[in-house]
Amino acid sequence: MHERGAPELVPDAALRAVFARGNRVGEVAREHVPGGVLIEIDWRRLSHAVRETAKVIADGASVIYEACFAESGVFVAVDVLERAGDGWVLAEVKSTTSAKATHIDDAAIQTHVVEAAGLSVERVEVMHLNRECVFPDLSNLFARTDVTEEVRAHLPEVPARVEELRDCLEGDLPDAEIGDRCKTPYDCPFMGRCWPELPADHIGELFRLGKKKREELTDLGCETIDAIPAETSLTDMQVRQREAVVTGEVVVEAGLPERIRDFELPLTYLDFEAINPVIPVWPGCHPYGQVVVQFSVHHEDADGVVEHREWLAEPGRDPQEESIEELLAATAGARRVAAYHASFERSRINELAKRFPQYAERLGDLAAKLIDLLPVVRGNVYHPGFHGSFSLKSVLPALVPEESYAHLAVADGYTAATALEAYLLAPEAMSDAEREKTRRDLLAYCKQDTWSLVVLARALRGLAGGAG
Ligand code: SF4
Repeated sequence: MHERGAPELVPDAALRAVFARGNRVGEVAREHVPGGVLIEIDWRRLSHAVRETAKVIADGASVIYEACFAESGVFVAVDVLERAGDGWVLAEVKSTTSAKATHIDDAAIQTHVVEAAGLSVERVEVMHLNRECVFPDLSNLFARTDVTEEVRAHLPEVPARVEELRDCLEGDLPDAEIGDRCKTPYDCPFMGRCWPELPADHIGELFRLGKKKREELTDLGCETIDAIPAETSLTDMQVRQREAVVTGEVVVEAGLPERIRDFELPLTYLDFEAINPVIPVWPGCHPYGQVVVQFSVHHEDADGVVEHREWLAEPGRDPQEESIEELLAATAGARRVAAYHASFERSRINELAKRFPQYAERLGDLAAKLIDLLPVVRGNVYHPGFHGSFSLKSVLPALVPEESYAHLAVADGYTAATALEAYLLAPEAMSDAEREKTRRDLLAYCKQDTWSLVVLARALRGLAGGAG
């Protein structure tokens, strides 16, 4: 309100995807409470939407979507308002799988305004997605959690909060006081402006730094990792981090040669990409259920000769059984299968085995071959360039500087998942050229992920050779 043109307020692609998902869930929710009247909202003419709502109520509508009310300068649009006897049921639609504490604020301000407008609210509900729902039966896609009691308990605080917010909006730009509020319940987009830039190797990079330890280090006057006195008690990992930052060198534990032994050649490297559609679209899937839609496999033989295999689902068809067939073919004959954070691959394989029992034995064999490079790195190696992160995108360029994702159009998992969802679930929104480019970009990204594993394992073997 104080700086409407702030660049931080322009939603990025990730936020736009969240909005689109919320809108889609809202639309589908209406189909689950049928027969209602939708109030069209023109944000430049809110009073018109309020008048329309009053008219629709007077006409006896039993269900209203986006029912609009404004009282004492506070405007609300109720997702679903249903008549119940002499009163009304107010439902707030959320694309989560449960009712959350943060939804109560939202429902409370709506109830406050709706009651101030003269309606009697009998019940308040959060209408959220139901994890038990399984495609193709979407009849139970939504569950409704009664939050009337929580909202009633909250209502007495609402008028004072409205006043507080109004004062804030009408006054000058308030002084920014940074704190937990900046991250709770969501990250504030202005953190880049309000929060001071931290020095390199700030203590915040320490692995699993608890609040107590952070306070202790701050009391000692340590802003950066290299300033932590040697006698300070730290975890083994944190000690390794301090040593790496102080020396500027990679630290390798004596246990690395033993831990890397499982990763001797020949070795197969595997990486999955999955999407988790909020509303399931394929048989057997739940809301937000992860579905493998792409993988990359690199085989490296005993002589270091590398072969690549890949698969990416086609738009418009269920990818699940095809993913199994392709995966089993691509990993046939593998001695061991290495992944990074392999619990993800293992979980997806186990889910597929459960859903397609005819493949359970072969998928079980594959799961048994999985080995994970992440704990090998985390437990034995620290490079100052990791900056506290063990993600492949942090570890790889630190240990193998000539390797990076910088040249790729899709260069991180979130972008990949968003592109995959657009490519597979809304291909009609893309031109042929866009579809082809997206496919190429996605294949290149996933291929880089397993190539990175090949290179990382080589680097670790090299470090193991010099360890101890
Ligand atoms: S970053 Fe924190 S202090 Fe700054 S505007 Fe956001 S909530 Fe307020």
